[in-house]
Amino acid sequence: MRTKIVAGNWKMNKTLPEAEQLINDLLKQVDTENKVEVIIAPPFVNLSMAVDKTQGTLIDIAAQNMHFADSGAYTGEISAPMLQALGVNTVILGHSERRAYFNETDEILKQKAHQAYEKGMTNIFCVGEQLSDRQAGQHFKVVETQLKNALFELPLQAYKNIIIAYEPVWAIGTGETATPEQAQEMHAHIRQVLAKKYGQDLARNVRILYGGSVKPSNAGEIFAKPDVDGGLIGGASLNANDFNAIVEAAKS
Ligand code: PEP
Repeated sequence: MRTKIVAGNWKMNKTLPEAEQLINDLLKQVDTENKVEVIIAPPFVNLSMAVDKTQGTLIDIAAQNMHFADSGAYTGEISAPMLQALGVNTVILGHSERRAYFNETDEILKQKAHQAYEKGMTNIFCVGEQLSDRQAGQHFKVVETQLKNALFELPLQAYKNIIIAYEPVWAIGTGETATPEQAQEMHAHIRQVLAKKYGQDLARNVRILYGGSVKPSNAGEIFAKPDVDGGLIGGASLNANDFNAIVEAAKS
């Protein structure tokens, strides 16, 4: 039995006071009833406040990125030990915006995934094809390659702290959503790829989130698919009512 997860990726949105307000609103509304795990990923500068405010609640806090080294001459970067010192033990890695705008390659992401494993952090690892990949019929191959290149040198036990997020790039922030069937077939494919390398047991137990223009109106039908274990939510996570409605959709 895989508990569903709804994770909110705030991206580069919300100043400190705005973030406090959104968390206050979420705390008033979100009731997981222990049926859904809820994670929010505010910008780095808001993490400390977010950890304090959500202490003892059912909302967990994640970072949107981190560096692969513990410390060093990497101006502008944030390390795993820095996050852990704040009480943040979950990180989103490989988001398509990091891949596209900050040149994060599979090789870099492999190092980050290994760092998350070594530090015992939960890694929400994003994969997903471009529209051109899908049009060329290459989407299954592209996602498989992303998984293999970044994650397949990790030992089996690493996967107890890995959550995969399938996010077709053409559906992120575009308002265009993969159909529930497209999400299901890719999630099933990801399980097959994992099963071939690590066995059926692991593949059955890994949670795979769908991301890409999930909103209250489409969350229910996407989350109802058997291999979809919840969502990684961008735009709709910035509004407490919408995010809460998506959490509610994950309960049924
Ligand atoms: C995301 O950035 O992970 C995402 C899924 O964004 P949106 O929901 O806005 O498409």
